[in-house]
Amino acid sequence: MSISPMETIFNVLNETSLILKDELNCTYLEALSETGENLFHGDIIQDELSELTKKRLKKQYERINLSAFSKEEVRKSYQLAILKGMRDNVQSNHQMTPDSIGLVMSYLIKKFTDKAEAFSLLDPAVGTGNLLTTILNQIDDKEITSYGVDIDDLLIKLAYIGANLQSQPIQFFNQDSLEHLFIDPVDVVVGDLPVGFYPNDLGSQKYILKSEKGHSYAHHLFIEQSLKHTKSGGYLFFLIPNGLFESEEAPKLQRFLSEHVYIQGVLQLPESMFKNPNAAKSILILQKKGDEIKGPKQVLMAKLPTLSHQQAMEAMIAKIEKWFDENK
Ligand code: SAM
Repeated sequence: MSISPMETIFNVLNETSLILKDELNCTYLEALSETGENLFHGDIIQDELSELTKKRLKKQYERINLSAFSKEEVRKSYQLAILKGMRDNVQSNHQMTPDSIGLVMSYLIKKFTDKAEAFSLLDPAVGTGNLLTTILNQIDDKEITSYGVDIDDLLIKLAYIGANLQSQPIQFFNQDSLEHLFIDPVDVVVGDLPVGFYPNDLGSQKYILKSEKGHSYAHHLFIEQSLKHTKSGGYLFFLIPNGLFESEEAPKLQRFLSEHVYIQGVLQLPESMFKNPNAAKSILILQKKGDEIKGPKQVLMAKLPTLSHQQAMEAMIAKIEKWFDENK
């Protein structure tokens, strides 16, 4: 029985990660990053391994030639291996953005950047890079200069190895995104924001959206920081909790947004996409204000149907296309 390209790549990633996990006495995700490095370099870079182990790894690597696969086949198989590694232990705030959300985000970014031949793109919470590489693979007819930032050194290592394996030249920064960023303002920001409190009270002092007492909301500070790194007229696409505008800090956030951005749209994702319906999310689309930038006549508000519900999805896409005709 023939197996799909995705399974072929996944099997090699998985078998070699298991070998490296045992031999290097590390976690599956750490081993996956090691095997990804080997695949990218076309060599085994862990000198400490025995000749026998190197032979076993080589035999696996010989089963695939990555350049023969599409970027999406590589991304999806790598994503499966990361998901397997994340099953063991990962905080909910560090979870990878699922494909379904990445595809909706890609569609929206494509529509909003329709007239641009090239643009710059920043993901300040890039994690494993799954969301960012989904977008880059989907929008392959434009030159996109992209940046990813994350505080977690293993996740960002997985992201840069994934980018290498998919030949996506992303510039990565392993740091706290709420500290000073050495990235010039970009045309587009995208982010599946970490939701919760930012523990660095001193660091939050420079933000307008800091809380007056106790820790500040990291997701609010991320919005402010992202806006600082966006050009006038640039767009921001955030995955946000549905209750973003309901907390006690919400009035301050609303005032801040009305001063600096035009809200373009709020798209509520179907609850079926989330294991816990209380953790359901929406996509918030903003445009940074600037000279000659006008807001939309109407904000795009929609509740997306389940993506597999083809008829409802077609009606929704027609509604979004109509909004673009009337507002953009
Ligand atoms: N889009 C990512 C992906 O596809 O893998 C998932 C993003 S995950 C929901 C949120 C990310 O924010 C995590 O990777 C976490 O490490 C990162 N994060 C949390 N606080 C941060 C901070 N202060 N600076 C930079 N990254 C942070």
